[in-house]
Amino acid sequence: MLAKRLEQLNPYVPGEQPKDREYIKLNANENPYEPNPQVIKAVKEALDASPAKLGLYPDPDSNQLRQAIADMLNKTGGCFNNDKNAAAALGFKVTPDMIFCGNGSDEVLSFVFYTFFDSDRPLVLPEHTYSFYPVYCGYYNIPMKKIPLKTDWTLDKEEMLAQANKTDSATIFANPNAPTGIALTTLEVEEMIKAAPKDKVFIVDEAYADFGDESCIPLLAKYKNLVIVRTFSKSLSFAGMRLGFIVANPELTASVFTVKNSFNHFPVDFVAQTAGIASCNTVEYNVDNAKKVAAERDSFTEFLRSKGWFVITSKTNFVFAKKEGRTGDEIYQAAKKAGILIRLFKTKGIEDFVRITIGTPQQMAALKEVLGEL
Ligand SMILES: *Cc1c(COP(=O)(O)O)cnc(C)c1O
Repeated sequence: MLAKRLEQLNPYVPGEQPKDREYIKLNANENPYEPNPQVIKAVKEALDASPAKLGLYPDPDSNQLRQAIADMLNKTGGCFNNDKNAAAALGFKVTPDMIFCGNGSDEVLSFVFYTFFDSDRPLVLPEHTYSFYPVYCGYYNIPMKKIPLKTDWTLDKEEMLAQANKTDSATIFANPNAPTGIALTTLEVEEMIKAAPKDKVFIVDEAYADFGDESCIPLLAKYKNLVIVRTFSKSLSFAGMRLGFIVANPELTASVFTVKNSFNHFPVDFVAQTAGIASCNTVEYNVDNAKKVAAERDSFTEFLRSKGWFVITSKTNFVFAKKEGRTGDEIYQAAKKAGILIRLFKTKGIEDFVRITIGTPQQMAALKEVLGEL
């Protein structure tokens, strides 16, 4: 009864969500700070003012939301944690026709894969990166060329470029990368784009950029094949709301709309559009939270290192760490016993690491107590 294509599916497994007890959840890179109360208020007011809206189709193209996202990017310089002058940081104005929104960036990525990658050549990606990319390759029958990371866990830029040029392929990776947390500078990304095939897209997934120092959005002024993927799930505390978007040149963005309109005309519902607009308009709240998370990350990194751990310097809202003499599973189990969930990967080469989402100072204090004893 089943279609043949099911054989190629290898579904993504998210961080566990057990219900047996109340855990401190540091396993899915969610934001420890609640969404902005002003956003909740805006949603309530919108529903009170026009409950009928829930019975009507939403704006299929999220026009007001795209305007609000463009305004937010122009205001923040594309990165919450940057201390540069925002306008100077971008160097040009992001316009709504450069934005495409979807029901979480996972869905946006699905449209992006369908729009830009063919099955006649491999997609180039790092061996360890966001694990949804290989899932979509299976879904859309896109071959992959996975390039191992270097021994210092950074991307092997030279090898990725050599492969992309050899097969005239598109490239995708997360920057900062997951699960390592390492960021390439915008300059390094630019060097890569310059040397990559011009007739194929170059995709940078900036799910965590707001916790780092910079975004690659300024490169959009120069490079027409660059596509930047962003999400509201992490820095905007909206993992439960499901909102993501791309920023790219208007022609590429229009092609993603064509795909969307051939699959689901209305991916972003009325409530999500309302919440997203309010969130962009009151983004200072999230900017403060991102800075708190980044500061907590750096002090947690120092703590672990002082206890003899190996911790990769992170530009995200998580750290990737291991302790000599302990398996990843032992660390994970010790935390779980204390009521704290962290993430363990079964993937070969990174089994000894755990990925720890940065929580509030109180949550991290509880975790420090457990890990300090190991
Ligand atoms: C979390 C994450 C996403 C998915 O975000 P959603 O908007 O929640 O679907 C995409 N890419 C990377 C690298 C992520 O870490």
